[in-house]
Amino acid sequence: MASIIKIQNLRKVYPVGKERIVALDNVSFEIEQGEICCILGTSGSGKSTLLNQLAGLEKPTKGSVVIGKTNISTLSENRLAKFRQKYIGFVFQSYNLLPAYTALENVAMPLMFRGMSKGKRNKKAAQLLKLVGLGKRIYHKPTQMSGGQQQRVGIARAFVCKPKIIFADEPTGNLDSQTPRDVMELMVNPCRQYNETLVLVTHDRDLALYADRIITLQDGRIINDEKNQSIARTEEQIQAEQEAKEPTEEKEQETAEQTEES
Ligand code: ADP
Ligand code: MG
Repeated sequence: MASIIKIQNLRKVYPVGKERIVALDNVSFEIEQGEICCILGTSGSGKSTLLNQLAGLEKPTKGSVVIGKTNISTLSENRLAKFRQKYIGFVFQSYNLLPAYTALENVAMPLMFRGMSKGKRNKKAAQLLKLVGLGKRIYHKPTQMSGGQQQRVGIARAFVCKPKIIFADEPTGNLDSQTPRDVMELMVNPCRQYNETLVLVTHDRDLALYADRIITLQDGRIINDEKNQSIARTEEQIQAEQEAKEPTEEKEQETAEQTEES
């Protein structure tokens, strides 16, 4: 499989007063097209710094980030902004919705940069909002929605341009109870369906289990890079698997009959 993201010897140093904080120390890896990849680590381990370099929101001190065939570390701000608009969607912990605009306008906004007509933009945005379960909330403004609903708007906005890659930094960090699981499924399912790549940052191992691969960071270095053996499944899948494992009495009887026959 072709890799869509390739980072080599990435280093990020922040000067703070006279000190220099090494937030990323010589990090290298590749992510394949369609991979759901989680960056896991405790607070301060360098997760956001890494994601910001990957998405081209910050320039690395050393090393390179190549997306597709483009070395984004060397692009000018102007070209980088265009590149992001075309290929990248971003989901933020604090949603980053424009407060004065409705859910529909927030989601339709990225399509404006594509030169799409207003009618088409609104139609597309309404479709996406319906997909995330907000069909009845399209004219609500952010303050008229719960955190979970706002994040659904954020997800619809990230996906509306059909980006090749979605980056999400602690997307469920401000949510409580059941909502994180719903939000995770809303991001992971379309990525699996359309072979889009998801790079997700979290400190929560339970949420990391939605990913195909988990990269663990500590003090700006990768300390573990593993395939996820126990991809989190939906309730239905878990039930179906359990049923397959524990045959019902009827099935047991059938098996017994078959054994007798043979
Ligand atoms: P995480 O997202 O895993 O919590 P961060 O990537 O935000 O971690 O931070 C990694 C380290 O870099 C921390 O020690 C943090 O204090 C430092 N850091 C992050 N951003 C800056 C910045 N803009 N200026 C100075 N230090 C920073
Ligand atoms: Mg962070």
